[in-house]
Amino acid sequence: MRRKLVVGNWKMNGSRAVNGALLSGITAGLDDATGATGATLAVCVPAPYLAQCQAALSGGPVGWGAQDVSAHAGGAYTGEVAAAMLADFACAYVIVGHSERRAYHAESNELVAQKAVAVLAAGMTPIVCVGETLAEREAGQTFAVVAAQLDAVLARLDDTDVARLVLAYEPVWAIGTGKTATPAMAQEVHARLREQLRQNNAAAAATVHILYGGSMKADNAKQLMAEQDIDGGLIGGAALTAADFLAIVHAAN
Ligand code: PEP
Repeated sequence: MRRKLVVGNWKMNGSRAVNGALLSGITAGLDDATGATGATLAVCVPAPYLAQCQAALSGGPVGWGAQDVSAHAGGAYTGEVAAAMLADFACAYVIVGHSERRAYHAESNELVAQKAVAVLAAGMTPIVCVGETLAEREAGQTFAVVAAQLDAVLARLDDTDVARLVLAYEPVWAIGTGKTATPAMAQEVHARLREQLRQNNAAAAATVHILYGGSMKADNAKQLMAEQDIDGGLIGGAALTAADFLAIVHAAN
């Protein structure tokens, strides 16, 4: 049985003051006797706030991580952040291949795969995002698109590293739009992804978490996470208020 994993993706939101209130709201809600959770929790935050998260969350039930990473180990790459730097702030997770990075920064499947390798080499867990656009879904290309996105990553990893991945199925048309894949639609893709993993590495397929992301909210989280291959959520908008995030955390119990 895979323990549920709920990860907030703050995207490019926040400030020291706003983050402080959000983090204390989350931790206070979890401290509450009714807030006990059987899920693993984390927030992926803008890089400048990693130190703030480390200070606020160390020793507690909520892990932290980043939203992107350089594929390079270091050197003359102005503006980029190396995986070792993220590890220096005790990040547990790094999101790679988010659709906003793929769309606005032209990240290819191959670059995303290189980033996943960099994260693993630095001892952290990559959360590899895959997902189809609306046009791709309507053209019947959903499975082919996500399979190619996952294949590029699998091609670069040995069996041990495949077992260390987290995947997130995030249909692009559902991100930030209020449109959610139905549990059955999401499960269908998750099951395909797990089968693809199984063909690569049967042992890892049983343990790798596959999160759903795309307008997951308190009122749809429970049904989505009840599906056999949906092991948690990657949460954007609803991760920006403590009450909404906690409601999803509780739905994961
Ligand atoms: C995301 O950005 O990863 C995401 C799932 O966003 P939202 O929950 O706002 O759709």
